[in-house]
Amino acid sequence: MLDFSNLGEEFFSPIETQPLNNPFLIHKNQALYDQLGLDMSDADLLKVASGEQQFQNTQPIASIYAGHQFGHFVSQLGDGRSCLIGQTQGCELSLKGAGQTPYSRGADGRAVLRSSIREYLCSISMKGLNIATTEALTLVGSETEVYREQIEPGAIVMRTAASHIRFGNFELFASRGQTKQIKQLADFVIKYHYPYCQGDNQYIDFFAEVVKRTAVMVAGWQAQCFSHGVMNTDNMSILGLTIDYGPFGFIETYNPKFVCNHSDHEGRYAFDQQPGVAFWNLSRLADSLGSLITDKQAKAVLDGYQTQLVESYSKLMRKKFGLIEKDDQDNVLIGQFFEVLYQNQKDYTNSLRQLNDVGKLANDLDFSDWLALYDKRIDQEKNSNRIELMNSVNPKYILRNYLAEVAIRKAQDEKDYTEIETLFNLFSQPFDEHPGLTTYADEAPSWAQGLEVSCSS
Ligand code: AMP
Ligand code: MG
Repeated sequence: MLDFSNLGEEFFSPIETQPLNNPFLIHKNQALYDQLGLDMSDADLLKVASGEQQFQNTQPIASIYAGHQFGHFVSQLGDGRSCLIGQTQGCELSLKGAGQTPYSRGADGRAVLRSSIREYLCSISMKGLNIATTEALTLVGSETEVYREQIEPGAIVMRTAASHIRFGNFELFASRGQTKQIKQLADFVIKYHYPYCQGDNQYIDFFAEVVKRTAVMVAGWQAQCFSHGVMNTDNMSILGLTIDYGPFGFIETYNPKFVCNHSDHEGRYAFDQQPGVAFWNLSRLADSLGSLITDKQAKAVLDGYQTQLVESYSKLMRKKFGLIEKDDQDNVLIGQFFEVLYQNQKDYTNSLRQLNDVGKLANDLDFSDWLALYDKRIDQEKNSNRIELMNSVNPKYILRNYLAEVAIRKAQDEKDYTEIETLFNLFSQPFDEHPGLTTYADEAPSWAQGLEVSCSS
């Protein structure tokens, strides 16, 4: 039985999963599987992962939530194509693409293989980069036909998280004035996920924790140039996990105005807007907790967001540049580096990784003035672990769109899933050198320059 089910049926609907035609297991995250203490044959796992069989006789459920989508409140959303199917070791199992639910709003409840591969690879990438995320356990392909701009094969990703509750779950009840349910939901989240907040100030402390975790998560996104693409409040996890991978993208050629979602015409969720959007989203969460904490209390907590974000981000960036001792001018130095990247259309990940070997960057004239300053700054510190430190935060490999696209095309056109395995292994350890796979650190080839991603997944 799912803990979440204890909340009662105002919070979800029991559903029946709609299995895929001729499903097959494309990949399983063995390390996660072991960590979750699962033990079944691949055949049995496939039955669960494709929605054919229940997990330990657990009734699958789809949760109901609301949310602000692109700034506009939508009074009822919900798990339109995902559902919770069970729980093991305190971790919820969720299928994405197992068919319609009462919250599908006319859509088909399916996920296509293309976007499922992207989610599968991105969640392992985020984990590899030490950014909090839901984690995908299995990827299942099928012969189910799904209609998007063209017919595409359907797939299911099983994702896992301690909880899949979103800001939007709170917003739903707040918009209906159901304060009893808001309290019930908050008590549930505190009991299972923030037990250390229990006490007289538990709702403030809980909100403060969500703010802090969100700040840390977004700092990780900014430091690794991850752009989520659809930062609606229904895609914001109450545990500060990166959730709902859709038209995400990692910045390759550095541009802080990067908009990964082709459908986001106004650039609401542009890369450099993310810290501000997260704050706005947290403010909407604060609104929906209005029956538990006062405006003044919420404001006092929210006032700490920026400091937490900057602290967390600065810590990461200082490591990226191999700086241990603080110098007032460090922010300026880092800002100048970004300016060089931007002006000369340099690759973010590779430029930073090459900082570990100043010799390599020195061959690039674009960096020469900046390197003179950097050399001087580094000389101030006699830090023998500098390279190790930098390599532990500057990935050599990042999920570039073209790498995902190659894996997708091989899977779709040739039913060859080996590339998914290669990328999965690479991105679980993105800081390692992986000799023999170094071409995977290459920048996008010309055929991939115009790749676009949108919400249609
Ligand atoms: P997203 O922003 O992609 O996380 O999705 C927004 C809302 O649309 C969520 O409530 C989803 O469950 C729902 N949704 C997205 N795609 C589908 C689909 N193919 N079928 C049913 N619901 C969907
Ligand atoms: Mg969503």
